[in-house]
Amino acid sequence: MSMFCFQCQETARNVGCTVRGVCGKTPETARKMDELLQQLKVMALTCSPDRERGLFMIQSLFMTITNANFDEAAITAQLERARVLTGAADATAPLGVLSCENEDIRSLRELLTYGLKGIAAYADHAAMLGREDDEIYAFLFKALAATTKDLAAEELIALVIECGHMAVKTMALLDAANTEAFGQPCMTEVRTGVGNRPGILISGHDLRDLQELLEQTADTGIDIYTHSEMLPAHYYPELKKYPHLYGNYGNAWYRQNEEFAAFNGPILMTTNCITPVQESYRNRIFTTGMAGYPGVPHIPDRQNGQPKDFSRLIELARTCLPPTPLEDGVIVGGFAHDQVLALADRVVAAVRSGAIRRFVVMAGCDGRQRNRSYFTEVAEKLPKDTVILTAGCAKYRYNKLPLGEIGGIPRVLDAGQCNDSYSLALIALKLKEVFSLEDVNALPLSFDIAWYEQKAVAVLLALLALGFRNIRLGPTLPAFLSPGVTDVLVKNFGIRSIGNAEEDVREMMQGR
Ligand code: SF4
Ligand code: SF4
Repeated sequence: MSMFCFQCQETARNVGCTVRGVCGKTPETARKMDELLQQLKVMALTCSPDRERGLFMIQSLFMTITNANFDEAAITAQLERARVLTGAADATAPLGVLSCENEDIRSLRELLTYGLKGIAAYADHAAMLGREDDEIYAFLFKALAATTKDLAAEELIALVIECGHMAVKTMALLDAANTEAFGQPCMTEVRTGVGNRPGILISGHDLRDLQELLEQTADTGIDIYTHSEMLPAHYYPELKKYPHLYGNYGNAWYRQNEEFAAFNGPILMTTNCITPVQESYRNRIFTTGMAGYPGVPHIPDRQNGQPKDFSRLIELARTCLPPTPLEDGVIVGGFAHDQVLALADRVVAAVRSGAIRRFVVMAGCDGRQRNRSYFTEVAEKLPKDTVILTAGCAKYRYNKLPLGEIGGIPRVLDAGQCNDSYSLALIALKLKEVFSLEDVNALPLSFDIAWYEQKAVAVLLALLALGFRNIRLGPTLPAFLSPGVTDVLVKNFGIRSIGNAEEDVREMMQGR
């Protein structure tokens, strides 16, 4: 076995990647990531979570999430810095996931660790907008240190639930950071076609990078297109005001090969999800922030409060052809909490009259696995008096289907990026209040969640911490859940695996 990693949904045979990551991660990079994580544990055990170490902690954890950074040199540099920040105290404990022999304890430790990685990524997005929270840093240190201790299963379960609460807090922080910086998302039609000017394609989750790119490309004759998780940028007033933010190009992250080849212009990856870079666009792709890929130019971080310098992309774009069209239509989105609550009277009236019979939350991630077509099938089979609430790139499985609307309310309400699942939870809690219910699970609401990587783990734990039950999860249950831990999740939270689309739709419509 040259490596072991089972942190994402694509892990080999739904057991673990042992030779090379299905994602493309090499054993060498996997080893460096293990070393970095181990050193972060030493830091969590021996150092106080001050602002410098707190930010370093979240950025380092973020680098190790699936499809964020494949650059061994960048991980090595981060490891060196970790050693400096921990006073050169090197990790001595055995490396890697399998060093814990008890499979239930290992499973709980990894569930906690992946939840922490998701929190770290969201906390970094917020930090890039100037919002940090010492309580989040303190929890990350406490919980990561706990994964090294001889704790009983019950103690680890309590930390996992606490991790869910901290994920809620972090998503709320990011929501506040985004809406303060860019305004409240509002209903928006986004073009999926292309114009006749050269373009720059921006992907990932970092809205500040997009804003700086938009500023630097104003009046240059270059259009900016979003890809995958950057689509929701169009919903924010302070970003949609730029006339050269042209539209959204393509689909979810895993279709980069063909879509980046067809785009013709420079591509900027601001965060995950990046896939192994192909020759057809190798000389036009750039990374920034915590994203990285060997041999791909990396746009450096901001210095002294100055914006990042995107001039290399701009110069390159001037020499490129406009994007090749993939389609020509519109996507409607922007239904975060503020916009949905502005429609609350109509939504509540539609529920009371029976025009809306049920809401189905289908948030989360998209991915390559063929049986993810289940989520398209569910969207198609759901009765016409249901509304799908979505966030994250899972939406690409059905956001271009002609699913119609109910009394002017679209049947797919897209709140935004995966962290905007927070919005969906707020909407549900508001509906509970309006309908004077004791329990949020008494709402006509079902969860059919698609997961892929560790941000989705944080979102799942947040939903459990908020009291949501009976969540369907797919396309497979995480490989890192041992049978014993799965049993706990089933018994206490009603978590279950997705099944057949037709049967699941029937059961969800019966409130099961
Ligand atoms: S991140 Fe996923 S695909 Fe990549 S090595 Fe780990 S489990 Fe495998
Ligand atoms: S929702 Fe998940 S899988 Fe999709 S781009 Fe975001 S992080 Fe990646």
